[in-house]
Amino acid sequence: MTVPKAASITIEKIKQQAPQMAKELSVPPFWLTDWLLFVIGQPSSFLITDENYQLTDSELEQFNAGIIKMQQGIPLAYLTGEQEFWSLTFAVNEHTLIPRPDTEVLVETVLAWINAQPVAQSEQTIKKRLLDLGTGSGCIAISLAHELKLADKLKQIRWQVVAVDLSTEAIKIAQHNAVNNAVDIEFIHSSWYEALSTQDEQLFDVIVSNPPYIDEADEHLVRLVAEPMSALSAPNHGLADIEHIAQQAPKYLKIGGLLAIEHGFDQGFAVRQLFADNDFGNIQTVKDFGSNDRVTLGQLNKHPLKS
Ligand code: GLN
Repeated sequence: MTVPKAASITIEKIKQQAPQMAKELSVPPFWLTDWLLFVIGQPSSFLITDENYQLTDSELEQFNAGIIKMQQGIPLAYLTGEQEFWSLTFAVNEHTLIPRPDTEVLVETVLAWINAQPVAQSEQTIKKRLLDLGTGSGCIAISLAHELKLADKLKQIRWQVVAVDLSTEAIKIAQHNAVNNAVDIEFIHSSWYEALSTQDEQLFDVIVSNPPYIDEADEHLVRLVAEPMSALSAPNHGLADIEHIAQQAPKYLKIGGLLAIEHGFDQGFAVRQLFADNDFGNIQTVKDFGSNDRVTLGQLNKHPLKS
C-alpha cells in the first residue's frame, strides 16, 4: 500500500494518490480527503485553493496513523470523533453506532406523523412525550427534539423527549451531543423499557427505535468490526430486540400512540406481523433512500393489559 511518506508532501500529491489508496483500503475516497482536512484543520475549499500546502511533520504523521487505522477497519467517524446527521453534528466513539443516512428516514417519518396529528385547541400548553429506545449517540432523539422544539412555538405543544440506552458510555456521548445541539433530553440508563414507569402520566405519545437488527449470521457484519456488536446484531434472524420492543410497547404507549422502528431491508413483513400481533393498527412500512424497506410504524389500538 502506498502511504505517502515523503518529507514534503503536498495536498496536491495526496489528492492524486487518494483514489488508489481508497481502493486499496476499500473505503470511500472522500474518507481520505475528509481525514486530511480534519488533520490540517481546514474547510473543504482548502483542497482547491491551497493545493501546494505542505503538511508539517506532525500533520503527516497523524495523517499516516489514520490511514493505518482505516486499514485496520476503523471508520472515518471514529478517527474524527464526529458524524453529521440531520444537518447536526454528533460526537461518536466506539461505544456508539455511527449514525447512518438511512436513519434519517426514521426521523422524517416520525416528524411527518406528528405533524399530521390534529391539535386540539387549548389555552394551555399541551405536554407530549417521546421515547427513543437504544439511543446510542442520541442522533434520533436529538434530531427529533431539535425539530419539535422549533414546532413547539407554533402549536403550543411541549415535547418531553426521553432516551434510554443500556450503555452508560453511550449515554455520556448522547448527553454531550444533546448539550452541543441545545436540546433538553432526559437520559435514562435502562435495558429497553426496564427502568421506565407504566403509570398513566408517564405514558408516551411516540416510541421510536433503531435497535440492533442484523442477523447474527449475516456476512456483512464482518465489515462492521469497529462498531459495538450489541448495537448492530440480534438473535432470531435479527428480530429478537424488535420483537421485545413491539411486545412491550403497548404498556408504555398512550392509545393511538405511535411506534416507529428501523429494521433490515428484508424484515418488513415480519415486523408488520409483530406490530399486528401486538394490537397496532395503521401499520405501514417506509422505504429508505435505496428503496429498501427500512421503517415500520403503527398506532396502538388498545391497552391489552388495562382494558
Ligand atoms: N443499518 C445498519 C447497517 O446495516 C445497522 C443498524 C442497526 O443494526 N440498527 O449497517
